[in-house]
Amino acid sequence: MNKHPDETPRDHTPTRMGGPPVPAGHLEPTDDKVRCDACPIRCFIKPGQTGSCDRYGNVDGVLTRMDPVTILQRATETGKRVVPFSLVSEAWSGELIRQGDYFVTGTGSGTTYPDYKPAPFIVSQEIDGIDMVTVVTEGIFSYCGAKVKIDTDRHVGSERALVYSEGEEIGHVTTAEYGSQMLSLGGVHHLTGLGRKAGLATMRALVQLCAGESIEVNVEGGARLGLQAGVAPVIDGVIDERMRVGCGSAAIGMFASQWAPNVDEVVVVDDHITGVMSEHQAGVVLGIKPSGIKLRGRRSTPGRYFEIANPGSGWGGTDIEDPIEIIEEFKPKYATPGLTLLMVSTTGTDYAYFILDEDLTPQPAPLPPILQESVDRVRSNCEPTMTSVLFMAGAGGSLRSGVTADPVRLTQSVRAEETTVTCGGAPTYVWPGGGITFSVDVTRTPMNSFGYVPTPALVAPLEFTMPRERYLELGGHAGSILSMNDALSDVPAQILRADGQNPWPPNVGVGP
Ligand code: SF4
Repeated sequence: MNKHPDETPRDHTPTRMGGPPVPAGHLEPTDDKVRCDACPIRCFIKPGQTGSCDRYGNVDGVLTRMDPVTILQRATETGKRVVPFSLVSEAWSGELIRQGDYFVTGTGSGTTYPDYKPAPFIVSQEIDGIDMVTVVTEGIFSYCGAKVKIDTDRHVGSERALVYSEGEEIGHVTTAEYGSQMLSLGGVHHLTGLGRKAGLATMRALVQLCAGESIEVNVEGGARLGLQAGVAPVIDGVIDERMRVGCGSAAIGMFASQWAPNVDEVVVVDDHITGVMSEHQAGVVLGIKPSGIKLRGRRSTPGRYFEIANPGSGWGGTDIEDPIEIIEEFKPKYATPGLTLLMVSTTGTDYAYFILDEDLTPQPAPLPPILQESVDRVRSNCEPTMTSVLFMAGAGGSLRSGVTADPVRLTQSVRAEETTVTCGGAPTYVWPGGGITFSVDVTRTPMNSFGYVPTPALVAPLEFTMPRERYLELGGHAGSILSMNDALSDVPAQILRADGQNPWPPNVGVGP
């Protein structure tokens, strides 16, 4: 009777440093070289050297995944402190483990190619009384990129402006979000559709960014940006430390009651919506009299003005250096000499105080202490800035075959939330609709989670976790399921304490 290949236990030929065992037929020695077939490049690797991607090397004639597989250990609480990733042990001791306290990640696990072979690790363990299976691999992604959120009200470039790294186009500015500028970097077009140089530049920028390193990019007609996940952005060489408190209209809403007793008029300068207190609904409700102020720009609704200036690095993300420029006039019907005016940017970084003279012209005056307090409050209500990097990729392709012989059933299982997708143990957001398109915050993945192959494409860890019963129903590779102890017995591994921010166990949400 024939046995299905998927039911055949895997070859356990050991490798020297991390990664899965390499089946004997995997190697094709040419002289003393070994051939890596973990990706379509199929490098021949000389002894003591690594292949094009540095992930695999020839160690004494054995094809070796050069990084250890990363195992996460349940984080222990230290008071209320969130425990970040930290190295527990550089090696897996091989001792029997307590079920549920460890999780094998795709980081350093290796890749199978072509994908019809079972994933590098298919590990079972009992979690909360349920026999769970986690399928672990390092996916190779051409369809991938990074969505970058830069907390700043400064103008970094026009929407759709191209973003360059190493002089090559690697992405573009996309639609801004509240208080933040957004970039879309990478994607299949930049990785493979613009030529080799652009593809490699894109690949390098993405790997560095996802690995938590800093990169510098230039926006067409815009700013030079220093970007690093989890760190404040550097815009044209200056660290931008504070987000705006809100748009100009929101700021009026927040602070009008504090300003009303102490000043006749307040203008909050903002590239998006500049607010005018006396016209704004908040000012009207507080009984503030019209000041007669007339601003440049386009009035949207009372007290809310669009396009008072061009985007820039001046007041409130505009190109304004002197705020008086945005005032056309004070109408004599309402304005009177001695009227007081506070102008402030949405971060409280820029502010000025004026008193109207006999000609109804604003004249600079010292800011009264009570208003200084309110400006300080605007500043203190601004959150610290950060650059956020979400890696986004499509896992709906051939790598599913490493999980099951019936790939669409994995997609269906993920869609039905029976299977949890994690990236290096970090929670992912799986987008609705077809395929398995996921996003992950790169700061929540273990170090060294992201790599590359020079096709060019990115490599990222992936784990699919589900109850064993469900895995078998999906047509999973039953013969390749190993206990964690057996799976790791011959494989060098490093143990990291899991990031306390991440749910534990990483398969949270999966039910029987
Ligand atoms: S690029 Fe890396 S994964 Fe691909 S064949 Fe070469 S060494 Fe192996």
